[in-house]
Formats: sequence, C-alpha cells, structure tokens
Amino acid sequence: MVDQTRYDGQVVVVTGAGNGLGRQYALFFAARGAKVVVNDLGGNAFGKDKEGKGQSRVADAVVKEIRDAGGIAVANYDPVQQGDRIIKTAVDNFGTVHVLINNAGILRDVTIRNMKDADWDIIMDVHVHGSFKTARAAWPFFKKQKYGRIINTSSSSGLFGNFGQSNYAAGKMAMVGFTKTLAKEGAKYNITCNVLAPGAASRLTQTVWTPEMMDVMRPDFVVPLVGVLSHESCRESGSIFEAAAGHFSKIRWERSKGFQARPDDSLTADVLLKNWKQVVNFTDAEHPNQPSHLIERLEKALELP
Ligand code: NAD
Repeated sequence: MVDQTRYDGQVVVVTGAGNGLGRQYALFFAARGAKVVVNDLGGNAFGKDKEGKGQSRVADAVVKEIRDAGGIAVANYDPVQQGDRIIKTAVDNFGTVHVLINNAGILRDVTIRNMKDADWDIIMDVHVHGSFKTARAAWPFFKKQKYGRIINTSSSSGLFGNFGQSNYAAGKMAMVGFTKTLAKEGAKYNITCNVLAPGAASRLTQTVWTPEMMDVMRPDFVVPLVGVLSHESCRESGSIFEAAAGHFSKIRWERSKGFQARPDDSLTADVLLKNWKQVVNFTDAEHPNQPSHLIERLEKALELP
C-alpha cells in the first residue's frame, strides 16, 4: 500500500526556509514531489542582517541539499515584507503557487516598559506585514486555479501571552484573525488557511529550554502537521493547531454561557457584579466561530424578531 502524503507537481513557497522549521518543511515538500521556493534573507534571530549578502547562503544551502537529493527548488532572498517578490519567484520559475507556508520569524524580547518603537515595529513588520504580503500576492493564483493551501505561523506566546514578548505575542495572535478571515474568503475557491503554533529546538528557542527538552523538540517532528494541513485531501480551514515533540492538537475559542441581563436602565455594574459567577462559568460553554454567533444568541435570548 502506498501511504505517502505527496505533492507531485505542486509549487510550494516556504518563507524563512534557510534554518530551523522552515528548512525541514522545504526538505519535506521537495522529497514528496513538490517544486519548492526556499525563501530566506539570512538574518540573525533578532532580524539583523549583520553578515550582509553572504547570509543569503542559508537559502542556497537548502536548495543545494534538495537538488543533491534529486529534488526541485529555487532560492529567494527577499525579506517577507516584500512577499510579492517571493511569489514572483515561484511564478517565474514554476508558473504558479499552490501552497504557502508563512514561517519566517524573529524575536525582539523586551518587557513593555523598555520596549522601543523599533522593537515593536520590526516584529509586526516581519510576522504580520510579511504574512499579508505573501498571501495577497499568492491569492489571485489560488483563486484562478481554485486551489490553495496557506499555513500561518503563530506561537504559544501569541495564544497565551508570555513574559517579555508583548510585541511577538501581538504579532503571533494577529495570525489567528488573519487566518480565520482568509479561511472565510477562500472557502468557495478551495483555499484553506490554518494556524500552526509549533514548538521546536531552533536558534529562537535555544536560550529558553533545557538541553533535555531541546533533544525531544526536533523540528522535523512538527513537519507531519504541515504536511497534512497543506495536503489536497485536507478540508480543515480557519483552525489553530499545536505541534511539538510528536504532540498534535487543535485549539478553539470557548464562550461561557454567560449572564444575560435585561438590556434596560436596571442594568448596572452592581447587577453584573452580583452575577459575575455566571459570566465566568464555563459549564455548557459554546465554541463560536462566526462574529454573528453572539448576535444570533442575543436575538434568541431577547426574543427579537
Ligand atoms: P529560525 O530562526 O531557526 O528560522 C527562521 C528563519 O526565518 C531564519 O532562517 C531567518 O533568516 C528567516 N527570516 C527571518 N526574518 C525574515 C524575513 N524578514 N524574511 C525572510 N526570512 C526571514 O526559527 P524557527 O524556530 O525555525 O521559527 C520558525 C517560525 O516558527 C517563526 O515564525 C517562529 O516565530 C515560529 N515559532 C517557533 C517556535 C519554536 O519553538 N521554534 C515556537 C513558536 C513559534
């Protein structure tokens, strides 16, 4: 029985594919029949390109690795903030794009009190603006061919918050709203878009985890989820997934049943305070996935026509 998940003839763009997770994704897709654009500008973990042009070699090294193994790949060295150029590389070389993995990322950890505008701006620029630029450029091709797969990279820091990472957490949580919206816009064109919050040993995490932890957090252990979400058989869209050290799970929103007051002049902070337990009680919770969900609930509760 052939049980390989394959991407024959598909064009896959992986941003930040010169190191860490992105490199593993690129190697995986190329080994499974895809033509891969290996994007990486070759900066350091904080978004600084101290070494200048020579660092573009990280993308070249991955392309060489793929070609040496008999695969097909081209390098692109543009920053993701110029994501349209990355997509152009895919189109110029391979005619279109089918899968977009927005993976490039950096850190600028600093507590809010000491955070400079530049620390905030560069994180938004790389993670949020970068993902927007590649997705917008790929969209017309996805729409025309009625097929596209996007994975945007978030982080547990974004989903849950993390000390010293307000910039990174905000940028990573932005991936959720962005993804859920693209999933809705792409639904009728067979374009899916999902969020991945990975955990893997890389230069971004080497100062955070113990050596024992680093040993089990191999980046290639995240790859299977990327493989499934970007496969043509996958119908998941607008969802958030975690992957680390062989663990895979889905995360969703939960709304408490809540407290419904009478929406009239009797509604005061005192009334709310008295009923606070109901507001924060998750028994019989709901799992909304549309903005209209709350309105429908209100219409029902208040018996609005
Ligand atoms: P990494 O530093 O090993 O690789 C990231 C790559 O992105 C680097 O090669 C870098 O040169 C490239 N890059 C950075 N800015 C770029 C830009 N503007 N344009 C093009 N390329 C750029 O990091 P990693 O751990 O493999 O992280 C990959 C992604 O996963 C990032 O988005 C990161 O925030 C996210 N993430 C990682 C972890 C983890 O545990 N490693 C956890 C949560 C989220």
